[in-house]
Formats: sequence, C-alpha cells, structure tokens
Amino acid sequence: MLRKLSGLLLVAALTFSGLDSMAQKNTVVAHRGSWKNTNVPQNSIASLKHAIDQGCLGSEFDVHMTADGIPVVNHDHTEGDLDIEKVTLAELHQFKHKNGEVIPTLESYLLAGKGQKNTTLVLEIKTSRLGKARSLELTEKCVALVKKHKMQKMVDYIAFDYDVCKKVKELDAKAHIAYLNGDVAPAKLKEDKIDGLDYHHSVLRKNENWIQEAKDLKLTLNVWTVNKKEDMEWFLDKKFDFITTDEPELLLELSKKKK
Ligand code: MG
Repeated sequence: MLRKLSGLLLVAALTFSGLDSMAQKNTVVAHRGSWKNTNVPQNSIASLKHAIDQGCLGSEFDVHMTADGIPVVNHDHTEGDLDIEKVTLAELHQFKHKNGEVIPTLESYLLAGKGQKNTTLVLEIKTSRLGKARSLELTEKCVALVKKHKMQKMVDYIAFDYDVCKKVKELDAKAHIAYLNGDVAPAKLKEDKIDGLDYHHSVLRKNENWIQEAKDLKLTLNVWTVNKKEDMEWFLDKKFDFITTDEPELLLELSKKKK
C-alpha cells in the first residue's frame, strides 16, 4: 500500500514539476526571427530556425500577398524595386536574400516551424496598400493555410488593422489575435473579442494603467520592439506574457535571472 502510495506521489510530483517548468517558460518573441546576432536575413527561414534553436517562446514574421494571391513572408511592402503586391511569386523569386534564400511563401515558412512545440509562430498579417478587401483576403488565406497544416495551436496572429483582427476571430473563434496599433483601450478590445494587445513600448509607458486593466480582463500582454536592457527589465518586472525584441539572446539571459 505504501509502495503504491509513494508511486502515486512520484507521478504527482513529476506532473507538477512538468507544469511548473511550463509556467516558467520565457517571454521572448524574436522580432522577424532571430537574425541580428546570427547574421541571417530578417524573416528568412534561417531566422526562424535560429529562434527555435534558441528556445524563444515565439518567433514573429510578416505576411503580404503577391499579385497572384500567394501569401509570402517579408517585412517591407517592397524588396529592391519589386512591389510585393504588384508582382507574381515567380517575379518575386528573382530576388534572393544574402544567404541565398528566396522570400519564403507562408506555407513553406509554416512547414519550417512545424514539428516542434516550444516556439509559437507569431504571424503578422500586414495591411495591404491596395485596400481593405485585399487585407481581408490575405487574412482568409493565412487562417486557411494554418488550418490546412493543423497548426492552429502553434500560431498566434497579430495585426495593425482592427478589421483584420476581428476577421481572424470570425474565421477561427479559437485563434489567438493581438492588436498592434496602440490606439484601443483594453476594455474595448475585450468587448470586440480580441485576445490581447501588442503595443509599442512608448504607448504602454504612457498608458501604464492599461497593463493592469489588460491583466484584470485576462487579455494577453505583448510589447514591441524592446531592445534596451533597462526597458527589458521594466517589462519583465511588469510580468508581460510576451516581449518582442531584436535581441532575443539578451532577453533570454535576463529572463533567466528574473526567475
Ligand atoms: Mg511585424
């Protein structure tokens, strides 16, 4: 009986230590992947792989849509003299990153992040310069691709366009979406069923009361783009869920010290 009981206790202890280590996950979201200190291009598959290898909680990337309707991963609307929304994927692939990669399709990017469980893919749906309808079309394609590859639990969405945020929830009520633009108070986000806020650090410093309000409303808190040590420490002390940075190595180090 005692032996049985100690076995049960051991199982319970292991279970709780597992939960504990999950609870102590870091808050680091690599902004455009981990590229700065690894010397690879932003938003490249190589930058995603570095973020995963470093054990970041998340890796952020930006998605646009080509003229022939393919979602691709790049920060700017243009690359060299190519305007992503006005060229086909084949035309866009004439451009090569310095490491030899082409600008990845969203599908190839998702597949590169599949098969691991530690790093959430933080998918930013970029606002189209060709109008709202195109932003919403891109939103539909992003959600459909994530569903196609059964990666709903591995992907969080972020967007500057409020209608895009609401569209994500319409398409997948269980999806996690955070709003980026910094001009909506937590109570309104909650009312509109947006899951979290992901605001510029200056907005959150100016509206510090939003931090507690968001916590009380059970909204997730993320902040961009925090690259200085003192700012990292400030947001770590405020117990943010995520901190987005171009310096994931430094933030990982500081996160360990704060535990
Ligand atoms: Mg972004």
